[in-house]
Amino acid sequence: MDSRLHDRHFRAIGISRWLDLDRTRDSATTMKNDNQTNLEKTQELYDFLQGNIPENIRTDNPPTLTADQAWTVIWFLGNQYWQVPDCIEKCDVCGTLYHTWEEGECMDYDKPPFFFCGSCMDTEEAVTKRRIGTRLERARIAMRKRSNTDIRQAGPDASK
Ligand SMILES: [Zn+2]
Repeated sequence: MDSRLHDRHFRAIGISRWLDLDRTRDSATTMKNDNQTNLEKTQELYDFLQGNIPENIRTDNPPTLTADQAWTVIWFLGNQYWQVPDCIEKCDVCGTLYHTWEEGECMDYDKPPFFFCGSCMDTEEAVTKRRIGTRLERARIAMRKRSNTDIRQAGPDASK
């Protein structure tokens, strides 16, 4: 997954960033710092689940759990299932969770729906989205051709 898509993906699901603790680890990081990071990240997730969304995250559906419900989620993650892998997506058409390495399609442009499970790849929504993608790609190519023409017309010394 490229970094731009990954970032959008984070914003779309808005949660796995906190669970990916190893990303912040480097050779100079002491266990004390790890403990501090674990506490801070868990606190951040705890706040997030109660609707306190950090500025770097955009979500149209902020969670609004109570403190007890938020803690139940964190308990579940910590005790029942140690991390949420970011290769799982929620289909924007039918709402089913699916494994992106096994099935489905991500069309990460224009407006939602962005994620399509295997069963929804031939739906009206997916067909429409692919059509929008083709149109955007054609527009991009046309724009590139136009700017190349501008450069040629201006000549290589135009900026001097
Ligand atoms: Zn689906």
